[in-house]
Amino acid sequence: MNDGGTVTGCVGDGRTLRISPRRPTVAVKVGGVTVGNGAPVVVQSMTNTDTADPEQTIKQVSDLARAGSELVRITVDRDEAAKAVPYIRDTLRARGVTVPLVGDFHYIGHTLLAENPACAEALDKYRINPGNVGFKAKKDKQFSSIIDLALRYGKPVRIGVNWGSLDQELLTHLMDENAKTAAPKDARAVMHEAIVQSALLSAERAEQLGLGADKIIISAKVSSVQDLVSVYTMLARRCSYALHLGLTEAGMGSKGIVASSAAMGILLQQGIGDTIRFSLTPEPGGDRTVEVRAAQELLQTMGLRTFMPIVAACPGCGRTTSTVFQELARDVQTMIREQMPEWKNRYPGVEGLNLAVMGCIVNGPGESKHADIGISLPGTGEMPAAPIFIDGKKAMTLRGANIATEFRAIVEEYIDARYARGAVAGERVKRAAHAEVAE
Ligand code: SF4
Repeated sequence: MNDGGTVTGCVGDGRTLRISPRRPTVAVKVGGVTVGNGAPVVVQSMTNTDTADPEQTIKQVSDLARAGSELVRITVDRDEAAKAVPYIRDTLRARGVTVPLVGDFHYIGHTLLAENPACAEALDKYRINPGNVGFKAKKDKQFSSIIDLALRYGKPVRIGVNWGSLDQELLTHLMDENAKTAAPKDARAVMHEAIVQSALLSAERAEQLGLGADKIIISAKVSSVQDLVSVYTMLARRCSYALHLGLTEAGMGSKGIVASSAAMGILLQQGIGDTIRFSLTPEPGGDRTVEVRAAQELLQTMGLRTFMPIVAACPGCGRTTSTVFQELARDVQTMIREQMPEWKNRYPGVEGLNLAVMGCIVNGPGESKHADIGISLPGTGEMPAAPIFIDGKKAMTLRGANIATEFRAIVEEYIDARYARGAVAGERVKRAAHAEVAE
């Protein structure tokens, strides 16, 4: 496990499975956050509030940042939204929320930025889409004017291609050229090439206009897992720009999380990707921070970054006929999520803690011994007792109606004992850590 280096695992026959080293890219500073050149893969997210409603947007940016989003993108689609941006930035900073803000521009970004200098100054990065920055003769003029503004205000840009708004002139040109060849490629391959060229030609034009590679991040989003892997593999071979990964229109719930994880997991395993976003569709009125947690969990489960304690829990089976086990696993996970913003400051290193909540004696003691703290709950027909394992040793056994409450208290005591600066260990954990309990 590490924050940017090499991750290894064993494949069982003496060979070592090694995640590819991170692809060398040019580092880009977005506000105070570095993207690329081996920096930890950055988690980002996007609001779905109307930016012209500053209070709603401030609240959602704060929620996303509190959940761990390291960059937050907001829509800047009209003059009212652009005018609200400086107030949003200032209010967030006054409230101690320092997350860099990225402005998402389509069609009229050049006008909005030119007419709202305070907005151009307040944002930490501009996202522009080469497919809709302008058409025909206006395209280069409007693209150039955004790059000029990025240069004037010293801001990086993301050149964000999306297949749903792919540059149709470029695609048509490549299709025509392909048709003239002796062995034409299939249409999908031509589309991949058009997506890649759209991003790279725009980046090249931005560099001609004076923007350094250290101010350029590229994305090329599509909605199919295999297409995304193909497109980013091509991009990674053909440039050294920092890459923003994301499966666009990923969808709702488990479908969106699984598809995004599959696509980005393959690329990250190959060392491709400097920042990621899960483009999940929330339930109506749902929690936008789910996309932040999904991104963190992907990076953590791949061993690329460590964000918060991991709770290993068995799936349960016919041996767990009561709901005690599921409730405890859920409550411990919820406690961790709620406490992490505070724990991160009070308990340096706590994000590396491993917990286990297991449903019965079959795998419970074994899995619990591998964790820093584990509990093996009684399965159906077992004695109503729950052994607790701390640092690999059986430390105590909980009984009675308050097992869940007591276990949560033990976890908190352990964290305080192990991670607080100059901490005095809780009595129970101190005793338990030094003596294997005979039952
Ligand atoms: S540990 Fe026990 S309860 Fe959990 S899945 Fe295995 S057999 Fe079932």
